[in-house]
Amino acid sequence: MPVSKFTTTLFLILCVNPVWAQKLVSTILPVQLIVKEIAGDDLDNAVLMSPGSSPHYYALSMSDRQRLAEADLVFWMGPDLEATLRRVLASNDKSVPLVAGETLGHARESPHAWLDPIAVRTMAVRIADALKGRFPQFSRQFTDNLKEFERRLRVLDEDSRAQLGSLRDLNLVYHHDSFTSLARQYGLPEGIVLLPGHARQASVKTSLEVSRILAEGEVDCVVTDPTLPSGLLKTLKVSQYTLTVEVSPLLGAPETVPESYFELMEEVVDRLSLCGKRTAAGKR
Ligand SMILES: [Zn+2]
Repeated sequence: MPVSKFTTTLFLILCVNPVWAQKLVSTILPVQLIVKEIAGDDLDNAVLMSPGSSPHYYALSMSDRQRLAEADLVFWMGPDLEATLRRVLASNDKSVPLVAGETLGHARESPHAWLDPIAVRTMAVRIADALKGRFPQFSRQFTDNLKEFERRLRVLDEDSRAQLGSLRDLNLVYHHDSFTSLARQYGLPEGIVLLPGHARQASVKTSLEVSRILAEGEVDCVVTDPTLPSGLLKTLKVSQYTLTVEVSPLLGAPETVPESYFELMEEVVDRLSLCGKRTAAGKR
């Protein structure tokens, strides 16, 4: 729905940020969970999008706009993920993008970087820096929390590497490119991605290619994403040809809401590793 200039101006006048508020807003649940690790429990830490929504296509409501305007800090991944929030957040001086599209090491930062424990360290440092800048009275606490989070990330990294090792030689098809960075980190096959980036439809070339390799029995597992349109999976009849494993990049297991970042990642890694276990059982 188009919003008139008058409404926008009136809205901006009404939503001047009160200086006494200490509100953190994160766009998606994984970001909120990481912010919770660094910020601790003293600050109000809310999430904007409900767990079932896709951050690629999210449409802001008027009350969302109000929450963003009233927040002290807004954490988001950046325009490569929350494309529809670009206009509102890119010009908001309280917004903190957690991926800057920079090249770290050998690869460009992924818009789904929260799924890669190594990239999450960079995100966590950016979160801590923003928190210290806005709430210097809690700087010591943020530094301690960051150290403890980094320690636990190292354990997660080791566990994930061990658990995902069985997927190395599989032929995978991914519904979406959310796991590209994690795959690169742990030596998983990059596979074929049906819906990269903000795409709602697969290209004809990709559909034909996947259709062919499915029919020829060359796909071990299809990793599906419950936040994206499923029509294509039905058209390609993936479940008739091979096993499918549903992994939510926002929740891990689609039916649960994780309470911590580590719970989310354990679910993601557990679900992904089902591709290896079930394939091994099927080949016996
Ligand atoms: Zn995505």
